[in-house]
Amino acid sequence: MSKTLPAAHLRTTVTDILTAAGSTREEAQAVAANLVLANLSGHDSHGVGMVPRYIDAVLEGGLKPNTGIAVKLEAPSLLAIDGQRGYGQIVGEQAMARAIAKAQETGSCVMALANAHHLGRIGHFAEMAVQRGLVSIHFVNVQSRPVVAPWGGGDGRYGTNPFCVGVPLPGQPPFVLDFATSRVAQGKMRVAYNEGRQVEPGTLIDEKGRPTTNPGVVVVPQPGGMFGALLAFGEHKGYGMAIACELLGGALTGSGTWHRPADSLRAVINGMFTIVVDPARLGTQSEFEREALAFVEWLKQSPPAPDSEGVMLAGEPERKARREREAAGIEVDDQTWREIVAAGKKVGATVE
Ligand code: NAD
Repeated sequence: MSKTLPAAHLRTTVTDILTAAGSTREEAQAVAANLVLANLSGHDSHGVGMVPRYIDAVLEGGLKPNTGIAVKLEAPSLLAIDGQRGYGQIVGEQAMARAIAKAQETGSCVMALANAHHLGRIGHFAEMAVQRGLVSIHFVNVQSRPVVAPWGGGDGRYGTNPFCVGVPLPGQPPFVLDFATSRVAQGKMRVAYNEGRQVEPGTLIDEKGRPTTNPGVVVVPQPGGMFGALLAFGEHKGYGMAIACELLGGALTGSGTWHRPADSLRAVINGMFTIVVDPARLGTQSEFEREALAFVEWLKQSPPAPDSEGVMLAGEPERKARREREAAGIEVDDQTWREIVAAGKKVGATVE
C-alpha cells in the first residue's frame, strides 16, 4: 500500500523533522527541497526515504547539522575542501559553487570534496554546472557499509560509488549521466524491500555469496548478523569504474576508503572528486557545439527498438518524471511513511 502526496507537503514534512533534529529552518528547507527533487526526478532511493537514516546519523553524531565547508587548499585551478560531515545537500552545493566560480575564472577546476555526509543524487551537482554552460565530471565513493561485491569476489567490499557526467548542449536540455556503479542503487533495494518486491536475477548475492532475488539480504541482517551484497553493473568494467571512484573520490580527496568490516553506524560519508571545465575557455566552443548537436540529432534518428519508446539521452528520464510527478504527486509506500513518522517522533516532530 502507498499514499500519493504533493511535493509541497513532503517538503514541509521533511523541513519540520530536520528542524526538530537541530537544523536551522533555512538548512532544513534546502535539504528537504533536494530530497523531494530526487523523488520528483524518479529516484525515490535518494528522496524522502533517506530521512530516517539522516535522523539516526544526527542522533549518533555522525552527521552534523548547521555545518559548512572548510577550504583546505586553494590554487589557481585546484580546490581541496572538507565537508566536515555537514549535510551533503548543503556542503555539496557550497563546494560546487566554489568549483564553478573557479572554472569560470580560470577555465577549469579540479575540486576534491572530503567528508561530506550523503550527497544524495550526484546529478544535482552536474546540473548546477551545466546550467552555467560548464562540463562537470564526478567520481564519488561511499563509506557506510561495504555493500557491493568486487568482480570475482563473494562478499561486499565497497559502496555503490556513483559516477556522473554533465554536458551542456546549446539550445537543448543537457546530457546528465548519473548512476551508481552497482547494478542498482542500494536505496532501490530498500524501496523494493519496503514494497515487498523481489528484484531482477543477477542483481544480488546473499550472505553466503549465492545468487538471490530477495532485496532483504542488503537491507536487514541475515542469519548470523551477516549481509549479502549487490553486484557491480557492467561486469568487470563497472567494477573497475567503481574502484576508480574509490581511488579518486575516497583516496585522492583525502576522504578515506573502505577497508574494515561492516559496522552498524548510520552515517553515510561521501568523497567526491570533481572536474569542471568551461568549453568556452578551451578554444573548441564552436566545434563542440556543432559536433555535439550533430551527434545528438544523428543518435535520435535511430529507429525505436521493438517495445521501446525510442532513443533517449541521459537526463531525459529524470525531466520526464519531474513533469509527471509535479502534476500527479509523489507515491510513498506505507513502510517508508511509517519510518518517516517514527523518525519525526525520535526528535519530537509530529508528522501528519
Ligand atoms: P539509474 O540506473 O536509474 O540510471 C540513471 C541514469 O541513466 C541517469 O543518468 C538517466 O538519465 C539514465 N537513463 C535511464 N534510463 C535511460 C534510457 N532509457 N536512456 C538513456 N539514459 C537513461 O540510476 P541508479 O544507478 O539507480 O542511481 C540513482 C541515483 O542514486 C543517482 O542519482 C546517483 O547519483 C545516486 N547515488 C548516490 C549515492 C551517494 O552515496 N550519494 C550512491 C549511489 C547512487
